[in-house]
Amino acid sequence: MISRRASAVEASGIRKMFELVASMEDPINLSIGQAHFDPPEAVKQAAIEAVEENFSRYTVTQGLPELNERTLDRLAEQYGYQGRHSIITLGVSGGLQLGFMGLLDPGDEILIPDPYFVMYPVLAGMCSGVPVYYDMYPGTPLTEQALEQGISERTRAILINSPSNPTGRTLTAEELDAVGRVAERHDLTVISDEIYDAFVYDGPHVSAVGHVDEQRLLLLGGWSKTYGMAGWRLGYAAGSAELIDAMRRMQQFSFVCAPSIVQRAGLAALDVDMSAQISAYRGKRDMIVEGLGDLYEIASPGGSFYMFPELPGGLETDVFMQRCLERRVLVVPGKAMSRRATHFRLSFAATDDVLQRGITELRAIAEEARAT
Ligand code: PMP
Repeated sequence: MISRRASAVEASGIRKMFELVASMEDPINLSIGQAHFDPPEAVKQAAIEAVEENFSRYTVTQGLPELNERTLDRLAEQYGYQGRHSIITLGVSGGLQLGFMGLLDPGDEILIPDPYFVMYPVLAGMCSGVPVYYDMYPGTPLTEQALEQGISERTRAILINSPSNPTGRTLTAEELDAVGRVAERHDLTVISDEIYDAFVYDGPHVSAVGHVDEQRLLLLGGWSKTYGMAGWRLGYAAGSAELIDAMRRMQQFSFVCAPSIVQRAGLAALDVDMSAQISAYRGKRDMIVEGLGDLYEIASPGGSFYMFPELPGGLETDVFMQRCLERRVLVVPGKAMSRRATHFRLSFAATDDVLQRGITELRAIAEEARAT
């Protein structure tokens, strides 16, 4: 009765974690995929005003013209982006879905990083595409050669995600240049998921803009993480006129438009300075790296709010997860977001108190594992 497309979709490993959290008393939750702060007051006020004004009708499919313009202006200012074609989507998830549907015919391949954001391979399958993986483990440089290995006659797109979920890794200008050259050589589209562009700690964000030809770049970003608005569902996609128009047509006959009220709030968000929150997150990153770095193999993440340490003392994933649960620590097993089972994802989107407790417990787990 259920389609093969739907049957192939399994519950996410992270969702299972959410269920566990609900059943646990006072967990040390280091598994969270969204910022722990609330949306800024100005954003909430803009939403309240939009409600009061009965700003309740559909907007145009591509989203409020002013929101599109301000988004493109910001991209121009920050990265020198020249394109003027964009669409407001239902989160970056909406942009990913429309982008995949716009690019992939049945059997077409898309290069995806491993480890990956859980949605990528599933979404590729839902769009009848085939995910092919390239190595993005911390410490493995992204080279033309590494990408070339995954390319076939059927490759249509390369997906990149910097800063990365789940590793926190950021791609360098050289690595992005390599992506751009491979895309050029094989006439591919590059989908760049830059949802964590605000969460960078060791210098400015390096966008794919300027490294990948704009005509073959689909740039995705959004409000979920930066402004603590994940439940509000707002994102954008910027790209070639042809692809954005295809995505607009598909949005018209699926999601219709991003929520009107949230679009008004998103406009207000563009005037809010989030640098205090970002520096607090830099402090959280440093706290974890310093607190665990001697016992865990951790590459200090340049961005996002995740890191991807190796499992300590040669423990198997299930044993490690069990030890974490006994100590009420929640992390995500790497195998939920990779074909390998050697690492785990630790999120530092939590209060300093929770992080400190997490450090204590994770140190104890590693020390025990070493001793046996
Ligand atoms: N891309 C990445 C890399 C993510 O981590 C997430 C959320 N976890 C998304 C996209 C989707 O975000 P949203 O739909 O809320 O904008």
